[in-house]
Amino acid sequence: MEFNYQIKKSRIARRLKITIHHDGRVVVTSPFYLPAILARKFVDKKSDWIRKKLEFFARKKLIAPEIKVGSFRKNKEAARALVLARVAHFNQFYNFRFQKIFIKNQKTVWGSCSRKGNLNFNYKILFLPKNLQDYIIVHELCHLGEMNHSSKFWALVEKTLPDYLVVRKNLKRRIL
Ligand SMILES: [Zn+2]
Repeated sequence: MEFNYQIKKSRIARRLKITIHHDGRVVVTSPFYLPAILARKFVDKKSDWIRKKLEFFARKKLIAPEIKVGSFRKNKEAARALVLARVAHFNQFYNFRFQKIFIKNQKTVWGSCSRKGNLNFNYKILFLPKNLQDYIIVHELCHLGEMNHSSKFWALVEKTLPDYLVVRKNLKRRIL
């Protein structure tokens, strides 16, 4: 496994330090006046250890596949159309009552369900594979029946998505 790294000069660092981030970035923090050649030698010396760590993260799939997303402004309505269609599809089975559906631009959530019965979805859902889209839709839809993550809730999800556990694991690897 080949890797790139970045050297960051720090005025407060007293010694060389290597940080490996979950997304696969390797950062070497170096005391400000230390020649870069010493930092490189240090990385060479530690390269087996760095590779091991990177391979571990890759194996654990902690290095998330990146999704390319378009802008909120340009994709909001397409996301709404998709969400409305899939909610209608799955709700033929569940027949839950809901108020409104909102499409939002959020940093950390794919979807949510409010106590008032509104469903919120992240517009970035548009850029996910279909099975992940459906999982997010069914998950929020089922919160209209069960406002929690109890076994009753998951049983509801399972009724239309028998392989939801696999899909759910897959979604957790995505970083928004
Ligand atoms: Zn939930």
